[in-house]
Amino acid sequence: MSLRPPDLPSGKRRLTLLGATGSIGTSTLDIVARHPDRFEVVAFAAHKNWQKMMVLIERFRPKFAVLSDHAAARLLENELKHRKTTTTILAGDDALATVAALPEADTIVAAITGAAGLPPIVTAARHGKRILLANKEALVIGGAWFMNIVRANNTVLLPLDSEHNAIFQCLPPVDAARGTRAHGVRKIILTASGGPFLNLPSEKLNGATPEDACAHPVWKMGQKISVDSATMMNKGLEVIEAHWLFGMPPGDIEVVIHPQSIVHSFVEYEDGSTLAQLGTPDMRTPIAQALAFPERIPAGVTPLDLARMRDLSFSAPDIERFPCLMLAYGALRAGGGATTVLNAANEVAVAAFLARQIRFTDISAVNRQTLAAFANVSAPNDLDSALALDQKARRVASERIAHLPAPDFSS
Ligand code: NAD
Ligand code: MG
Repeated sequence: MSLRPPDLPSGKRRLTLLGATGSIGTSTLDIVARHPDRFEVVAFAAHKNWQKMMVLIERFRPKFAVLSDHAAARLLENELKHRKTTTTILAGDDALATVAALPEADTIVAAITGAAGLPPIVTAARHGKRILLANKEALVIGGAWFMNIVRANNTVLLPLDSEHNAIFQCLPPVDAARGTRAHGVRKIILTASGGPFLNLPSEKLNGATPEDACAHPVWKMGQKISVDSATMMNKGLEVIEAHWLFGMPPGDIEVVIHPQSIVHSFVEYEDGSTLAQLGTPDMRTPIAQALAFPERIPAGVTPLDLARMRDLSFSAPDIERFPCLMLAYGALRAGGGATTVLNAANEVAVAAFLARQIRFTDISAVNRQTLAAFANVSAPNDLDSALALDQKARRVASERIAHLPAPDFSS
């Protein structure tokens, strides 16, 4: 008997990969390359790394490749003229939506970082595509109206974020990722590695450099999420993500520090059962789980060696040193457009920190001040209003940054 889902007439999943040149994109393509009988790439999209895109085109031969940066797309097109390829190159933000709606693709892997990834995800949801979601920022910006589009179109939304994928695996399948609370669940507990500054004394956080912040002890990821892990805003964004995916109120979502990153999250049930998903920290596991769902496929991941595992530790997060986590809970409780504002402020603050314009500890200050400037802002109710609020919050955050003294990273 075949367990292959009935919506696969050709027997293959046909993918559009948004964020193809990034860390999640690379892990996804590792799985795709292991299973050519199951997966085929129809389209790639990325920002401006045309050299990497060229390598991907030659290897996977998609029908379309998008670079949102026009100049980079021209360079790619010029380069490909001399090679034998049938790939059509598209440019600009609109082209992201074009490849998210392609009739040839049934599955969208959403792995663009930040607000830039939201419009094509909305397009994919409207077209009822199966969405494998890495881009948590999109859900933080989108919230209720986005989940309404998901439900209205019977869109299957599968989380790639390792914690949410773990929760998805621990919930009854019928309730998972539909935005409604599963029967009998008391709470969900997200694990957090604590990032590179877990044990750094508070007085040293001020002098932390972008290089320090991006040196994550467990995960090798893109720069934005690495900085978010260092501030623990990543966990804050994940609390908001969990709220929308699993229909849990903020009071029933907990965070626990687990530096080894072996337990990827827990679901606690009313009857006293606590279910967890464990695995070697490798994003290929959640990606393979979601790509093959409801089947299971090899992912090239080293299995756990339980007998050699010495220590699995858990502790409460230090909210004094990592205020961004509480800002995220606060924004989720405040409701309205607060999480949209928080995400925009954070994207601007992280970019400024990476550009060495502000200190590490300024990130939470910019986030707090921007949130305060938008007290009681109403919730966006569609893509346009969400993007308008995002832009407004970015301007306010940029003004706050302009008033901050430039950091001195030399001492
Ligand atoms: P990354 O920086 O390595 O890659 C980002 C990708 O997005 C690149 O392909 C880049 O070209 C593309 N991109 C960025 N801006 C774009 C734009 N304006 N238009 C088109 N493409 C654009 O980041 P990553 O670590 O792969 O993370 C991607 C997303 O996945 C983020 O939302 C992150 O929070 C989430 N995520 C990542 C991990 C991880 O382990 N890396 C884990 C969980 C969730
Ligand atoms: Mg995560």
